[in-house]
Amino acid sequence: MSFPRILLPPKSDAFLMDLLAFPMRDTADRDARLLQLTASTLPTPTAPTQEWALRVRDWLFGPTVELTLACPECNEEADLSFESDDVWPVVAELGDDELLELGLTCPDCAAEHQPPVDFATVLWDELRAWEADRFREVHLLATAYGWTQADVLGLSQRQRDAYLALLG
Ligand SMILES: [Zn+2]
Repeated sequence: MSFPRILLPPKSDAFLMDLLAFPMRDTADRDARLLQLTASTLPTPTAPTQEWALRVRDWLFGPTVELTLACPECNEEADLSFESDDVWPVVAELGDDELLELGLTCPDCAAEHQPPVDFATVLWDELRAWEADRFREVHLLATAYGWTQADVLGLSQRQRDAYLALLG
């Protein structure tokens, strides 16, 4: 299976904030917004495939995937992390409606379970968490320095972190 070529736009915070700002009614809207992460000059998937979503989330958030999963037996949540390189061969072979299934043993009750992972949902959750962090940064820096949202988003992450550190 060959991966559809995708051309990713410049990764700017302002672009992603615009992407997330649209009102969304359902999953189809969400998928359409996510697909706007890719440029239109090259073939792109018509719906987010697992391989596409994994590639985009790597590009945005790096190769380490971190999840919190609840055990179906005891309901205890456990944090889990893995490298996308480790699951890439399996994800590349998934059919349209198939999801990666992890083989886990619950650290609390030792139950074995195979939770499916939808990388489009993972990507979306990460984008929402990322957005919450940006709102927090804009709130704190705009309040402290009188800057606009555009001013704050125009700073590099290193600059924002440095100013936030000064605020204590
Ligand atoms: Zn358990």
